[in-house]
Amino acid sequence: MSTPRVLISGAGIAGNALGVALGRRGITATVVERAPGPRTGGHTVDLRGHSRHVLRDWNLLDEVTALRVAEERMVAVGHDGNELWRMPAQDGGIVADVEIGREDLNAVLEKASAADIRYGEHLVATGATATGVRTETSRGHQLDADVLVIAEGTRSSLRARLFPEAKSCYLGGYLALVALSYPEEFGGDMRVFSAGGGVMVAIRPGRVQGMALVAVRAPQRPELTNDTAAQRRFVAEHITRAGVADKWYVPSVLDRIAHDPGFHCEELTKVVAPSWSTGRTVLLGDTAWSGSALTGLGTAMAIMGAEALADAIATQPGDLDSALHAYETKMRRFTRWSHADASPSMLKRWAPSTERQARMNALVMRTVTRTPLRRMLTRAVRPPAWTA
Ligand SMILES: Cc1cc2nc3c(=O)[nH]c(=O)nc-3n(C[C@H](O)[C@H](O)[C@H](O)COP(=O)(O)OP(=O)(O)OC[C@H]3O[C@@H](n4cnc5c(N)ncnc54)[C@H](O)[C@@H]3O)c2cc1C
Repeated sequence: MSTPRVLISGAGIAGNALGVALGRRGITATVVERAPGPRTGGHTVDLRGHSRHVLRDWNLLDEVTALRVAEERMVAVGHDGNELWRMPAQDGGIVADVEIGREDLNAVLEKASAADIRYGEHLVATGATATGVRTETSRGHQLDADVLVIAEGTRSSLRARLFPEAKSCYLGGYLALVALSYPEEFGGDMRVFSAGGGVMVAIRPGRVQGMALVAVRAPQRPELTNDTAAQRRFVAEHITRAGVADKWYVPSVLDRIAHDPGFHCEELTKVVAPSWSTGRTVLLGDTAWSGSALTGLGTAMAIMGAEALADAIATQPGDLDSALHAYETKMRRFTRWSHADASPSMLKRWAPSTERQARMNALVMRTVTRTPLRRMLTRAVRPPAWTA
């Protein structure tokens, strides 16, 4: 069979990583990306486990680690900023030893990708043909492919249309993100303040500037979608209601929530899709298996998934149905594991309801992180071995 034609919807980490992985196998994909250009800003993401080996194979690991954010440990603090417990950054830790800005990583992948990336264009119609997929784009182009890969992130519209049985499960809260100056005195710590009231505020370093994350436990509020002003009010009100508006660095964070033009807030959801392909259309990255921003690992999974999918397509170009099946079999066991912490109880641990629960959690974590029991924590976040 001739080289398969691969069309990718979405130029995030997953889509661009697939462009790199296919390019290394002599396959040039086409990518359509809804955004008008590469997306800037954003949070840091962690590279763990086998994703580092994949990047090394792609000759990108040195370039990526040179852009690493100097984040050395996670430190939990109380009302007056006093340390409660700490954990060093490591592959299996809560904070990884390779954290990198999403924008920086995506720029490296895009530069290395062999794909033809078309910004400001998305698919408006798709249909199965005898040998693959026929699509039409928002610019009126017809694009035919042997395989269509949906890599549009957690809230993929194509997935909603073509995989109606896939579900987004609400995990009981929201995560907001703002840029702010990283306090020098934190010395490379990610500092986490969770004092009860269902709210957690964390400040972490970035390569260029710092950022604050605010997790809020609350019933689902669909009316907040796409309403930034309402999201800002919602997050600020929860902080105030939790009684911590004047504590620690929270006043500066509240100021950024009100004024940061890059303010981002999203529902914490995990994606559960019983199948990742229908005909020649296949899901990749957060679209297929997101465990939410809280559990991390989405980036490592996107890179590993891209490598697995490219490998399957290149190995079985004459039997693409089997290739998509092989890819799913390989990645499923990783998602079973990466979803393990994606539950409302995870959010409850980070953003407990009462001050008493917060004190109890801190006591448990202090005990665990200071004794050999800490291995339980590191094992809990390490991926299984990558086997053929
Ligand atoms: C606030 C936050 C914090 C996070 N923290 C971490 C972390 O600490 N560690 C970690 O590993 N991961 C984290 N993640 C997740 C991580 O960013 C993703 O798991 C990872 O980048 C893989 O994403 P993706 O490429 O599958 O999707 P995305 O990065 O969401 O990319 C999807 C792309 O598709 C485009 N798109 C969407 N719809 C369409 C359409 N219809 N047509 C064409 N293009 C479309 C989007 O514009 C975007 O460029 C976090 C995510 C968020 C939002």
